[in-house]
Amino acid sequence: MAGSMLSIGECMVELMQAEGGMLRKGYAGDTFNTAYYARLFAPAGWTVEYLTAVGTDVVSDEMLSFIEGTGVGTAHIARIEGRMPGLYMIHLKDGERSFSYWRSTSAAKLLAGDPDRLRAAIEKMDVVFFSGITLAILAPDAAETLLSELRRSKASGKRVVFDPNIRPRLWNDASRMRATLEAGARSATMVLPSYDDEATHFGDASVGGTIERYRDLGVADIAVKDGANGVTLQFGEGERLHIPAAPVSRIVDTTSAGDSFNGSFLARLAAGHRPADAAAFAARVAAAVIGHHGALVAREKLPISE
Ligand code: ADP
Repeated sequence: MAGSMLSIGECMVELMQAEGGMLRKGYAGDTFNTAYYARLFAPAGWTVEYLTAVGTDVVSDEMLSFIEGTGVGTAHIARIEGRMPGLYMIHLKDGERSFSYWRSTSAAKLLAGDPDRLRAAIEKMDVVFFSGITLAILAPDAAETLLSELRRSKASGKRVVFDPNIRPRLWNDASRMRATLEAGARSATMVLPSYDDEATHFGDASVGGTIERYRDLGVADIAVKDGANGVTLQFGEGERLHIPAAPVSRIVDTTSAGDSFNGSFLARLAAGHRPADAAAFAARVAAAVIGHHGALVAREKLPISE
């Protein structure tokens, strides 16, 4: 069963504290993490591509090699002279993580700079995924270029998937943040929000309230993630279903819980599984991922049978 998924956004260099004051280098970013997990669990014949922009420097070369090594396609990654990838550092103090970012001039901010290229990439794909972070890093006119392309895709019947992934730090204006996230949802056929964030920033009083708000924005398919409380699905006019979280023996690092859920959920839907079955599978993947350090957990560390 051939098919293709495109994830659009920013992958960054990650520097993490290691033994003896050393720094360990990795690569991560919500939309890339989602692509990674989609690739891990994609049905045979499916390809997963990543669309972003990087520079022409050594750091960018290394990032591309890393992405290729994961099996995620790089054909839609633009190279921009004079720009570099964004970078972030994870600090660990008394078991608490905090983050510093250097991303204000990252190459990825220019990912929608060539509308023809964007259209050509999106047109070829069966499923397109983007997030609120993708929208946050783009200048307003670039975000509108991307959204108008996604609206065209939605109108043509393509599956367009949006995770609002609300990060107030990336937006300097809360009302523009909300308006742009709503525009993101209107461009999508499916949203994968996290209830905590939605309640905080949109004032939803319940998971049902989040679902109704997105339905009012014209989104057909909704999966609201709610950490250990599981996921609630509303697909089209179907029955509203609650899928419990899978048990976790020891939570080591919750980074990428939502992203691993998204990627594996979309992979299972692509394989033709029913939403409830796809969500139960994705809950098992997310539960396994948070039992390990880091955003991108190797397949062999995930005890997930197909
Ligand atoms: P995000 O990382 O986007 O905030 P959530 O915290 O809602 O997303 O987590 C996404 C998914 O990961 C949940 O729907 C659930 O399946 C799984 N998950 C998250 N936290 C836990 C937990 N403590 N126990 C079991 N599963 C969890």
